[in-house]
Amino acid sequence: TYVVTDACIRCKYMDCVEVCPVDCFYEGENMLVINPSECIDCGVCEPECPAEAILPDTESGLEKWLEVNNKFSAEW
Ligand code: SF4
Repeated sequence: TYVVTDACIRCKYMDCVEVCPVDCFYEGENMLVINPSECIDCGVCEPECPAEAILPDTESGLEKWLEVNNKFSAEW
């Protein structure tokens, strides 16, 4: 899955939302999040993000953000 990180806070450009083929972006408290169980790992959102806030979860140190993405996308 891909993960939205803190670079998105108060950004919300929404470019990523428009390109996602499975509509798995949701509104978090002050940032967007990706639902990890809906994301199909296509990667098209990553280069669209002007804040470079979207990273693949294969990068290290993203546990906290994966949790945030999980939590706020699960409420829908
Ligand atoms: Fe959507 Fe693809 Fe980005 Fe996952 S990687 S959030 S499916 S655009």
